[in-house]
Amino acid sequence: MPINQDFPKDYQVIGKHKHADGQHYHYVWGPGKLSDAAENENVIDNYAARNEELVPLGVHGTMVAVDWDSCFAEGACIEVCPTKVYQWYRTDNDIPAIQAANATSSGNGNDDREGRVDYTDKSDPIREQDCIWCMACVAVCPPQAIKVEQSNLEYHEKANQDFKEDTSL
Ligand code: SF4
Repeated sequence: MPINQDFPKDYQVIGKHKHADGQHYHYVWGPGKLSDAAENENVIDNYAARNEELVPLGVHGTMVAVDWDSCFAEGACIEVCPTKVYQWYRTDNDIPAIQAANATSSGNGNDDREGRVDYTDKSDPIREQDCIWCMACVAVCPPQAIKVEQSNLEYHEKANQDFKEDTSL
């Protein structure tokens, strides 16, 4: 299924995924709901090989929003983005995706289309603030997992006010 076109209406912030540069970060929104990724054979097989549970993950990013429950690691968005907004999250920080919601990543992850660790990897909008709103990633995503909406900045800014970080993480 495509990302919910009403996003982020009716979603709540469930995490803040940070870049180690201290400047870039994006919010993670839930609740997630099993979708295209949970029906993709490569994804199912690779989760099984890792002995990791395939669970709802939610949406990474607010203005550049990637539904990780729909993303099945095809990589077209990573290839077309002119400003390198995306990276493969596991190539930076190989942890279960649910934990990435509140992780800090270096930003040095792979940004080649075929650079995924495996099909449990996800396209991560680690440099969301660098988006120039060209919509190229939206156009090429097979499951239509991406919604780019500049005006969602208001939701991001509200999250800046409301989100309480767990500093023990
Ligand atoms: S809209 Fe364009 S600049 Fe923004 S993340 Fe997508 S491809 Fe990159």
